[in-house]
Formats: sequence, structure tokens, C-alpha cells
Amino acid sequence: MLYLDHNATTPMAPAVLEAMLPVLTNVWANPSSQHQAGQDARRVLAQARATVARALGCRIAEVIFTSGATESNHMAVRGLLGAAPTARRRVLFGSVEHASHLRLADALGREGLNVQRIPVLCDGTLDMVAAQTLITEEVALVSLMAANNETGALMSLAPVAAWAQAAGARLHVDATQLIGKLAFSFSSCGADAVSLSAHKFHGPRGAGALLLRHGVPFASPICGSQERGRRGGTENLAGIVGLAAALELLGDLDADSARVVALRDTLERGLCQALPSTHIWSANVPRLPGTSYLRFGMLSADVVLQRMGLLGIAASSGAACSSGGTAPSHVLSAMGVSEDEALCALRFSLGRSSTQEEVMRVLQALPPLLHPLLRGELLAA
Ligand code: PMP
Repeated sequence: MLYLDHNATTPMAPAVLEAMLPVLTNVWANPSSQHQAGQDARRVLAQARATVARALGCRIAEVIFTSGATESNHMAVRGLLGAAPTARRRVLFGSVEHASHLRLADALGREGLNVQRIPVLCDGTLDMVAAQTLITEEVALVSLMAANNETGALMSLAPVAAWAQAAGARLHVDATQLIGKLAFSFSSCGADAVSLSAHKFHGPRGAGALLLRHGVPFASPICGSQERGRRGGTENLAGIVGLAAALELLGDLDADSARVVALRDTLERGLCQALPSTHIWSANVPRLPGTSYLRFGMLSADVVLQRMGLLGIAASSGAACSSGGTAPSHVLSAMGVSEDEALCALRFSLGRSSTQEEVMRVLQALPPLLHPLLRGELLAA
């Protein structure tokens, strides 16, 4: 398989599996137990927490382990809102947040909060004028992603953090797509809470963390005594060890991201040359190294994906499938892209395990596959 879907998930690194296996087989006791086996598990948990804190530039007590970014996002929003002054009734979400997060925004609206969305520009970046206008002293919380999972566009967080701080609002950042691809440090990011997920950087699925700034009032929605009373539930120790191991493996992200950018540029240049009707969204804004979000003329993404699937190329469409059919990406809709164009959206996402050879194979395979379809499209027009 030619795997070009690293924003969906990444293959687990062999060293991560190696770190997890002894935990699965030998360290299965409950870290809350008083007996020796429990104490051993507790020690492994503490080591993993220290590793995560070191890798992400935060304090050990600021790490809360979760089941992944969806949980971290929900927990951050509910936990920060639960401790916010009742006079602050407005909540701001980015308009291109992950679909699961926008469902939470809708739920908060139904619960009576005044939820507003910060728009993006047509290039997929945050509308900074709107953001500054919306962040006022009635705002309890701003919840915003660091990088978009579809376009790869990076959001300018530093000014938002400064405006939120000046207004006395909390800032939560969903850094799920950024962490593991670009350098990140919690201590300098300006957010009160940050979500991440191990499976986006060659760790296991079902393991993530919420980083919560020391001293920030928090009313956790998941009650229990674990994670210093901030998240109940027996810890997924193997997953946590896998998360820590995956972070330790990251190494020099600057060199790595430069390599992935070069691969993506080769892919995009080759596709645009061979298929001139290729249109790439967010092409000219700062974006994640391996993400390329595009359409080939007006070819339906479903058709292209199915044909690519026959060749063993795995990518993704920008559409959400539901029982009622296919819905265009809410991200492209927020950017003002028409529904017809949005249904043609394909996402190629390269990652650390991608190679030059893979890119060349895609560049050889796609033009002969797509030329007949594009010619058919011309004839039909
Ligand atoms: N936020 C973003 C930006 C994502 O890309 C994803 C995963 N696609 C999530 C949240 C959810 O992550 P998880 O699978 O760990 O719940």
C-alpha cells in the first residue's frame, strides 16, 4: 500500500511497540493498588509522565493522560467552562475545528451558552480581525486548533493568546495535528490547555493527553481520583508508555519537517505539471509539512479515491459520509468553497515514514489514471 493518509493516523513505530509489549505482558497491575505490583505500575506511569513533560516543555503535574484528542478537547472545554465565572457566557470556537469538536460546540449552544465561531479566510487561515473583535471580556473560553487536519493551515495562535489573556478568557488549543510534525513547547505557547493524540505521531491509538497549565481553575467533567483528581478511570498504562516512547522518538523535527516539505513540494509540482487542472487549497499559507489538499479539475473525490484504491494508493476525501449520503467538508464550506468543488476534495498527507520513492510511484501512477477521467469531463462539458 502507498499510504498517503498520515493526518488520519500513522503506523506505529516498531520502537513504540517494543516499549509497550513488556507493559502489556508484565506491568498489568492497577497503578492505584497498594501492593508491590501496583507500585511497580505506578513507577512506570511516573516515568512516562516525566518523559512526556520533558518532550512537550511542561511540568509533570500539568500532564493529564486521556484516551485521545477527542476526549482531551471535550475535557478541556467542559473543565475550563465549569470553573469560569458565571458572568462570562460567551464561548468562541474556530469554525474549522475537528467535526467532533464542533458537535460539542453545538451541544453547549443547546445547553444555553452563547457559542460563536471565529471565521477563517478563503485561504483557510484564521480571520484575525474577526478574532480580535470577538474576544471580549464576556468570553469565558476560546477553543481553537493549532493546525487544520484537512488543509494543514496553521493558525496564528500567539496574537490570539495575547488577546485572550488581556480579556481574561481561557484559551484551549487542539494541537493534535501539530504535535509530532512541528516543534512545540507548552511553556511558551500561551494556551491554558492543549490537546494531543499519540496515534498522530506513530504512537498507539486510544492514548492522548491534555496539558493543563498549573493553577488554572478546572472542574473536570470526568470525576475520579486518577490524574490528581482530574480524570477518573484506571490508566491505559501500555498506551501511555507508547505515547511517551513516540514523543521520545521525535528527534530533530526541523530537519524532519524540511524533508517532508520537500516531498510534498515534489508531489504537488509533479501533479500540477502532469494535470494542469489541479487546484490546491491553502497552498500559499504556512501549513503542515506533509499536507496537500486539492482537487483534480472537477473530478468527484469518490471516483478518484476508488480508482486510486485499485492501485493501492490510500488517501482521503474531504467529505464526511453519513447514512444520508456524502456531505461536503465543513472546512471548505467555511472557506467559501462551493459544494460542487468541495465534493472533489482529496487530501494527501505525507508523514515521517513517507519516502521519495513513494512520491515518485504516485506521480507515475496518477496521470495515466486521471487523464481519461479528465478528458471525459471535458467532453461532457
Ligand atoms: N482534533 C483534530 C484536529 C484531529 O485531526 C483529530 C483526529 N482526526 C482529533 C481531534 C481526534 O483525535 P482522536 O482520534 O485522538 O480522538
